Amino acid sequence: MSVTATSSVFPKLSEPLGLFGGTFDPVHFGHLRLAEEAITHLGLGGVRWIPAGQPPHRGTPQVTPQQRLEMVLRSTGNNARFSIDASEVEAAAPSYTVHTLERLRRELGPEQSLVLLVGADAFAGLASWHRWRDIFALAHVAVSHRPGFPVEISSLPHELATEFNDRRLTDAAGLKRAPAGAIATFAMTQLAISATQIRKLLANDLSARYLLPDAVLDYIARNQLYKST
Ligand code: ATP
Repeated sequence: MSVTATSSVFPKLSEPLGLFGGTFDPVHFGHLRLAEEAITHLGLGGVRWIPAGQPPHRGTPQVTPQQRLEMVLRSTGNNARFSIDASEVEAAAPSYTVHTLERLRRELGPEQSLVLLVGADAFAGLASWHRWRDIFALAHVAVSHRPGFPVEISSLPHELATEFNDRRLTDAAGLKRAPAGAIATFAMTQLAISATQIRKLLANDLSARYLLPDAVLDYIARNQLYKST
């Protein structure tokens, strides 16, 4: 596992590279299984985790970007296929995915297949993201199933449903044929875990054990995070 910052040059991969952004407030087993199963189901060479600094789509997280980054580091450190990109955490500006993808394209070149990994709930909101249509020129998008969020055209807003229909891959091998532009779906093990649920448990002094790695729980306890105020 390696950590990269803005100035780093990434290694060229022959397989598609997964990019997994999120608030990770805190990171949990739903995130970890998504990244792990994306490698298997989509034939990725690895997954680069990109914790958001100042997420534009939600309120300010209760813990600092550095603490969320630290928790991701602790939970992914023993997986050689995972790496971490700390650029969004270190940036002063809001973390827009399209900017991060433009930066990665500049660093990795036009040939590298990039696959933006999102859960079904995040995908359903994609049309509200900054310059969302530009994302397809920069990366593929792979959508994981998530309990409570069906990946169906009928449940998507019209403009996103059109893109989904036009770009949808039936075979993950298509992610290797082009560097960007397709939408794939994959059925990961369904885990009805959310960071919201974990924050609520911890704020009420209830156990969140077995929903997230012990190393993350230890870090939370030691730093007294997510306590009710
Ligand atoms: P919160 O409850 O605070 O909104 P979250 O648990 O959804 O957080 P995020 O950090 O917002 O976690 O999610 C990062 C990415 O991981 C998103 O694309 C989200 O859809 C996906 N994801 C999170 N939890 C799961 C899960 N249990 N199953 C599948 N995908 C998930």
